[in-house]
Amino acid sequence: MSFMADDIVEVDPKTETISCDGGEDGLGHPAVYYTFNNENKIVCGYCGKIFIRKEE
Ligand SMILES: [Zn+2]
Repeated sequence: MSFMADDIVEVDPKTETISCDGGEDGLGHPAVYYTFNNENKIVCGYCGKIFIRKEE
């Protein structure tokens, strides 16, 4: 069992910008946008959800 997996979102490697509004579990927060600069990982400052840009 791994409840952490719910907080990790894998996105397409070509993705430049993601938005987060707190996810599907009703905990929502105002929509925020993050840009992958040289990083392949973004952690949402509101809800802690982790976005990982998958390498090829
Ligand atoms: Zn969030």
